[in-house]
Amino acid sequence: MIKTDFHLHTTLSNDAPGTMDDMVRQAIALGLDTIAITDHADFNPLDPTAGYYVADKAWQQTLDARRRFGDQITIRHGVELGEPHLFPDDVRPIMNYPLDIVIGSVHFMHRYGVHSNLFDVYSPAEGIEMFFDFTLDMAAHANIDVLAHLDYFDRYTTQRNYPPYRPDDFKKQIQTILQTIIDRKIALEVNLSGFRSQADRSFPHPQVLQWYRQMGGRLLSISSDAHQPDQMGKNFDRAEKMLLDLDFTEYHTFENRIPQPRPLSIL
Ligand SMILES: [Zn+2]
Ligand SMILES: [Zn+2]
Repeated sequence: MIKTDFHLHTTLSNDAPGTMDDMVRQAIALGLDTIAITDHADFNPLDPTAGYYVADKAWQQTLDARRRFGDQITIRHGVELGEPHLFPDDVRPIMNYPLDIVIGSVHFMHRYGVHSNLFDVYSPAEGIEMFFDFTLDMAAHANIDVLAHLDYFDRYTTQRNYPPYRPDDFKKQIQTILQTIIDRKIALEVNLSGFRSQADRSFPHPQVLQWYRQMGGRLLSISSDAHQPDQMGKNFDRAEKMLLDLDFTEYHTFENRIPQPRPLSIL
């Protein structure tokens, strides 16, 4: 049973209504033993969340929560960086804080937001190819511990009534990304927010997880990516079973940016 969640947002992210208090109390109620708060730090000027993140506020919030709840749950300090490879000057001061986990995400590709206008401008095939190119660049160059929600664009294509994408159509691009994170010892995130979307699957697709396993990938982070308390604790049992079926035996939490294995089990 998975008793951790390493991708959570609070009101320090502009799109999350859950306060630190709400999120930590819910984690304790769910019986979790360790969580990481990973608020958004985005830098693309077109991204409405750009400039919202204040590193010192995030760190003080973590310290405060540790003081109040530290006897009931372990709270790790993290951040979700948007396209960090493109904004080194903005990222540098954030990295001075004692981070336990740094998640790398592609939310915006220059003028195109995956969650906003990308699929208004481009066909799914074009937009997805662009997304994977962009993701490869981040995976190859960014200083991150976890690659977030690979292939989450299906949340937005299915909203537009396009059929779900088929990983096989992008096999070469996806496998190049997987090889890059394996070589760089970056963990692949199993992001369960996909079950909250019409895509109704983990991000990434199970096929991608199977390729990762076959290619020798073992580092996995499992998370809800919850933006409010009622999004926490859902589908972890489903994900655990899926990963066991794919022959994974462990997943990872992070402390001081070092992955720590935990067993997967159906018990
Ligand atoms: Zn994200
Ligand atoms: Zn997130």
